[in-house]
Amino acid sequence: MTIGIKKVARPREMSFPESLYLLEILKGLGVTMGHMLSNIVHQEGIKTIEYPEVRREMPPRFRGRHRLMKRQDGTPRCVACFCCATACPAKCITIVAGETPDPAVEKYPVRFDIDMLRCVFCGMCVEACPCDAIRMDTGWFTPPDDTREKLIFTIDTLLEK
Ligand code: SF4
Ligand code: SF4
Repeated sequence: MTIGIKKVARPREMSFPESLYLLEILKGLGVTMGHMLSNIVHQEGIKTIEYPEVRREMPPRFRGRHRLMKRQDGTPRCVACFCCATACPAKCITIVAGETPDPAVEKYPVRFDIDMLRCVFCGMCVEACPCDAIRMDTGWFTPPDDTREKLIFTIDTLLEK
């Protein structure tokens, strides 16, 4: 049985000036300065924006933050039918239905919460609603917040936008 001889490739030793990386640092700084000067001269070509002061215009089909629609008298259009909560794959909609004195409206949502930490922005709730009572056409992202409680949007939050 013959034993193969393995060749071990080792990187060549760097010279002292190479080990200081001065040339490479200068090359990197050159690229950075080049971009900076180019952005100062051609500001119209800058791709970044100063979010959140400046916001991009979202396409019409963008699924943003939810809102609940109102009737002309200001009451929620929602009739607490639970279709949206049933269709929601993330199970993040909580509805508590109540009776209304209005004989034309059977029920209304006493409570309507969406847990935005669980929402996957699929739009199934909007598709499922028979009353066009919930929409995702605000063009807004869900803003970051510092507690979980603040990211459970209540009926008041959903109705105000
Ligand atoms: S967008 Fe999707 S995940 Fe979010 S509440 Fe609606 S159905 Fe649920
Ligand atoms: S938002 Fe629409 S689907 Fe959801 S409970 Fe209200 S009426 Fe039903």
